[in-house]
Amino acid sequence: MPMLVEDENDKAVWESDAICRHILDRYAGSPGPTFWPSSASARTASEVLCRLHDAYIGPIQGCLYKPMPPFGRFGTRSEAIRELIAQLGVAESLADPEGPFLTGPDISLADATLFPTMVFITHMLPKFDETIVAKAGSADSAPRDAAAGALGPRLLAWWAHMTSADPEAMRIKSEIVGGLEAWEARDRWAPLLGAGTRDEAERTLFDKIIAREIPSEMVYEDDVCLAFRDINPVAPTHILIIPKEREGLAGLGAATAEHAATLGHMMVAAATVAKQEGLEDFRLVTNNGASACQSVFHLHLHLLGGRDFTWPPG
Ligand code: 5GP
Repeated sequence: MPMLVEDENDKAVWESDAICRHILDRYAGSPGPTFWPSSASARTASEVLCRLHDAYIGPIQGCLYKPMPPFGRFGTRSEAIRELIAQLGVAESLADPEGPFLTGPDISLADATLFPTMVFITHMLPKFDETIVAKAGSADSAPRDAAAGALGPRLLAWWAHMTSADPEAMRIKSEIVGGLEAWEARDRWAPLLGAGTRDEAERTLFDKIIAREIPSEMVYEDDVCLAFRDINPVAPTHILIIPKEREGLAGLGAATAEHAATLGHMMVAAATVAKQEGLEDFRLVTNNGASACQSVFHLHLHLLGGRDFTWPPG
């Protein structure tokens, strides 16, 4: 977050929009840009873009650097990244199609507010799993630059102008990127799920079930998980509950604090499915590792019911 400290006796001012307004107020009448476009519609667009930034983009951009949730109102990083991309889509729709600045020919507070955030986002977004970043965009699954995928044509044209034709913006970019690269050199991003700890383990047949490439008897589905009957049941009712996105969860042993929302969601889904199946008594099992009889390395809960069970399990 940008912060302005003018001298020891003044309070620090933070957030680009507030800093910019403060400078304009303090140095009113001095030469230099007013950040106040000449047309009323551009001034309104600037205000709306600044509010969009502060209310919807600012609170979730933490999903690109915070070690664990919550990310704004989201419990998982991938959900927050998708929302961030959706909000970039709103910024795209508000940006002036002719440019070169966000609201047209004059530089505005919107440029000053969004640009530092955009430096951060375009630097960080490509570090995350392409499947997360690309999903919110077009159906095109071909590899591509994730940031380019997230910015629409108007924002990309604005970005190109700011980073190649505006010397002040270029200086700001190099200062911010310099700081990010110094963090990077100290492995700052390594613990972030999807950035440095990408799920590169081999895909399993459950991905094919999720993609409907392998048929299965599905009994439940929501945004986070899927439940289907086991092909080789060991009880009259034997249902597998899996997260739709593995996100590193080859098994429960790989869980981190980032997975808490997904795991909690799966437990609630298990209870829902048990009710749906008319089971009052049931057993929920997860096998972790080959010696615990795990054979598919995509986390799953076995919901077993319809017969008596013994304890301890074998
Ligand atoms: P694990 O042994 O890893 O704890 O559990 C994997 C489960 O997936 C097994 O119970 C196995 O029967 C089930 N399974 C394996 N292949 C398929 C399949 O193609 N379809 C379905 N529905 N279940 C499968």
